[in-house]
Amino acid sequence: MQVDTGKIQALTRDLLLAIGEDPDREGLKGTPRRVAEALAFLTSGYRADPAKVINNAIFTQEANSMVIVKNIELYSLCEHHMLPFFGRCHIGYLPRGKVFGLSKLARLVDVYARRLQLQERLTEQISQEIMDRIDARGVGVMIEARHLCMMMRGVEKQNSVMVTSSVVGEFRESVATREEFLALIGSRAT
Ligand SMILES: [Zn+2]
Repeated sequence: MQVDTGKIQALTRDLLLAIGEDPDREGLKGTPRRVAEALAFLTSGYRADPAKVINNAIFTQEANSMVIVKNIELYSLCEHHMLPFFGRCHIGYLPRGKVFGLSKLARLVDVYARRLQLQERLTEQISQEIMDRIDARGVGVMIEARHLCMMMRGVEKQNSVMVTSSVVGEFRESVATREEFLALIGSRAT
């Protein structure tokens, strides 16, 4: 489904009126168009196919030791307020003969982050996608993020970081594997 940018523009104009603004004043003239363009981009994950994003970048590899990709930048929108949350995503997986090309995990994170999200669901979708895509022995995903809906509205919550994790396969079954993952990503949550 394509984004209806015309409708978003009309709605944004109404929204400006509803909050008591004048959509025709100079500074706001281009705002409905800019909001529509920004929203189209920030929700582009709905229209992206994870399989296509990863396509051609899965490689056969004999070594089956744990692969870690740390500090993947993450920007998403919370579905409750449509305000940003942002932070870092850490991914670990145990391959079963197949690994991802280096940049692909970051692309995969973007596909799921560029939607209206809950941090918990985002974390699980990423781990499940990796699991399914390369039939991994196990996957661990941790996201540390700050939510503007909390930070901008409550003084006590300005420094709080929400941490979510999702572990599947051997990461769930084995304490040692989970601990190796947490040690390798240098988590404070160990
Ligand atoms: Zn929120």
